[in-house]
Amino acid sequence: MIGGIEAGGTKCVLAVGHSPDAITATHTIPTRAPRETIAETTAWFAAQPAISALGLATFGPVGLDPRRPDFGHILATPKPGWSGFDFAGALARELRVPVAVETDVNAAALAEARAGLGVGSLAYMTVGTGIGVGLVVEGRCVHGAAHPEMGHYYPRRPAGDDPFAGVCPFHGDCLEGLASGPAILARWGATLSDLPGDHPAHERVAYYLAQACHTLFAATSVETVVVGGGVFDTPGLRDRIARICTELDAGYLPGGKRHRVAAPHLGHRSGITGALTLAQHDR
Ligand code: ZN
Repeated sequence: MIGGIEAGGTKCVLAVGHSPDAITATHTIPTRAPRETIAETTAWFAAQPAISALGLATFGPVGLDPRRPDFGHILATPKPGWSGFDFAGALARELRVPVAVETDVNAAALAEARAGLGVGSLAYMTVGTGIGVGLVVEGRCVHGAAHPEMGHYYPRRPAGDDPFAGVCPFHGDCLEGLASGPAILARWGATLSDLPGDHPAHERVAYYLAQACHTLFAATSVETVVVGGGVFDTPGLRDRIARICTELDAGYLPGGKRHRVAAPHLGHRSGITGALTLAQHDR
């Protein structure tokens, strides 16, 4: 048996199973301070069949370089108590199993790449309270100085755009500052799905997200960008993005005919399936 944890800002999903595709039990707990969260997690796993490895798909920022002392630690975060916390280490000590760690979005990208269409290179973009992008190239999650943070790149503002400053506390009008759920709420006073279908917000948000997809196709040559998250409760948004992305490319990219903007194959299970995939590879 293997175990997985998808640790998000507000909740953690815990799971055990025989493989990523054969989860036998799941449990959801609120994300509290590290001590309480670890205690609750340990108690649940103790009541399950023994596992031989654990995959941790966590909110970031998180140290992913095994040669560095901050490997598996949560890095500077506004989340109380979590900055510098050795998340993977605490789990390894309490559960006495090896722990493989990734960002939640990288793990989700890994699961989608594996389970979806069998593509080796794929990006996973989630648009909700923030914008996170996970990146798998040739079957491996991309790391470097840290993990990708594509949600914080600066998209081009369309001609005639109003002077909305954006809501990112670090960058103002980066992608997350312009197109995340809180940005949409701050700019138009409603969620995208609550705005009428002919409201200009739909085309504007799709334009920003389509730029991100085009940039991913151009910069990384992924075949598929999987787009999910709360903002995609809005009917038609994914199709708008695909259309605008094709327009933005203007027939240039050589891989263009293979590019797809797709819904998550695994629905809401991408993250936890990715966590078990990490455990399976690490066992
Ligand atoms: Zn930003």
